[in-house]
Amino acid sequence: MSEDNVYDLVVIGGGPAGYAAAIRAGQLGKKVACVEMERPGGTCLNWGCIPTKALLKSAEIYETMKHAEVFGLKCGEITVDFAKVMQRSRTVADQMSKGISFLFKKNKVEHVIGKGCVNVPGLVEITSGEAKGRLLQAKNILLATGCRAKMIPGLKADGVRVLTSFEALQLKKVPASIVILGAGAIGVEFAYFLKAFGCYVTIVEMLPRILPVEDEEVSAALERAFKKQGIEIRTGVKAENIRVEAEGVKLDLIAVEGGAKETISAEALLVAVGVSANTDGLLSPKVKLNQDRGFLTVDGQYQTNVKGIYGAGDVIGPPWLAHVATYEAVQAVNGMFGHGAPKRVNLFPGCTYCQPQVASIGLTERACKEKGLKYTVGKFPFSASGKAVAVNHPEGFVKVIIDSATGEILGAHILGSDATELIAEFGLAMELEATWEEIHATIHAHPTLGEAVAEATAATHGEAIHI
Ligand SMILES: Cc1cc2nc3c(=O)[nH]c(=O)nc-3n(C[C@H](O)[C@H](O)[C@H](O)COP(=O)(O)OP(=O)(O)OC[C@H]3O[C@@H](n4cnc5c(N)ncnc54)[C@H](O)[C@@H]3O)c2cc1C
Repeated sequence: MSEDNVYDLVVIGGGPAGYAAAIRAGQLGKKVACVEMERPGGTCLNWGCIPTKALLKSAEIYETMKHAEVFGLKCGEITVDFAKVMQRSRTVADQMSKGISFLFKKNKVEHVIGKGCVNVPGLVEITSGEAKGRLLQAKNILLATGCRAKMIPGLKADGVRVLTSFEALQLKKVPASIVILGAGAIGVEFAYFLKAFGCYVTIVEMLPRILPVEDEEVSAALERAFKKQGIEIRTGVKAENIRVEAEGVKLDLIAVEGGAKETISAEALLVAVGVSANTDGLLSPKVKLNQDRGFLTVDGQYQTNVKGIYGAGDVIGPPWLAHVATYEAVQAVNGMFGHGAPKRVNLFPGCTYCQPQVASIGLTERACKEKGLKYTVGKFPFSASGKAVAVNHPEGFVKVIIDSATGEILGAHILGSDATELIAEFGLAMELEATWEEIHATIHAHPTLGEAVAEATAATHGEAIHI
């Protein structure tokens, strides 16, 4: 093996886990290659977090323009150039991907273009793409190949009638109507986006509520807000017998309780029911890694059952979030090169970028009850926030759950404009084990939405001023 092909670390996958791992190793002065079969950035930058946020911004602006008279402004007739809305989202993704290529160069990361396969521990073979046939040797291999959208057995995404988020990010026109299967973050974000641009949206969810991992109060309030926006919500029903026809799709909804059946139809179907790990062709038959439901199993060092083969990001299982993927990857690299003991993820924010936005961290109230914890809840409605009312986003609330014994935060849940930005304060507070008194004692600028964080925290002990 020529020296050129010997590395300290070979990373397979160039998403938020893979590129972060490669850049971190570069920062540590290691010789590193990142094998990525597409352009850098992974799902997040190319087909996930970033392009969807660009689309959602267009939807928000459109909604604001439709209600411009509230601010004393008249827009006249607003016309939508949907192709441009979609194009902007692609341009933003292009720009961000180029940014990763720049960071690779800056940190001396070699981007090897192709599909990587671990041949034997310590050896990666490029099985297709530009670098096909190359063999890369490394004491450390990090698998960060991410996930792809799950499809309903028997259905195939065709980009017209049946979509996953990948096809939905390339829509040529707004469908007149769509059924969105799955009310997790992806389904809910597309529901808001498509509804804003005039699509008749029906969300179908088997569990009893939308955003089922969120606090029940948040799910209920978002459901009310979505219904007000004109989105139809069908929870507690199972979709069966999905028929793809020339004019659209038809499906039966079977009530989970009682089994009542009805049939609904729409021009298109968006399947947002979860993800599967990208492990096809990743491992030769000689490399047997432990897996759990298809996701790689790793230990506290992010190492698989085979020494020198590590995993990080979506491919090691939930939560399937970009910031978690990056965190895991950096921890794994620090650990493998002796920069401190790696930490596994136990505290992370979860965000959904519809309007009103949803963000949370830590335990839900139900989880606190189930664990038998003693806690107090503080809530502050944005309708009592001067800033929220001034910017015409009075909907939603901040809810914080405080441990009665320690005064620390057990969980925080926000529904409202900029919830996804506000949650960071709770993240830092929880990381530093701050008490409710310490947050309350921190002066928050007025008028800001951030004051609602302090007021909700004060409300846990009856000390909020504005409610
Ligand atoms: C529509 C949508 C919206 C989302 N929005 C958010 C959000 O707002 N916030 C958030 O935190 N998360 C969001 N996510 C999830 C987020 O995208 C993922 O959690 C994140 O991308 C995971 O990073 P990763 O590096 O583990 O995997 P990925 O980003 O999936 O990257 C894996 C990379 O590996 C490459 N690859 C796979 N196999 C091989 C191989 N054998 N050889 C070479 N390359 C290979 C793939 O091409 C891919 O580029 C969203 C996802 C979707 C689909």
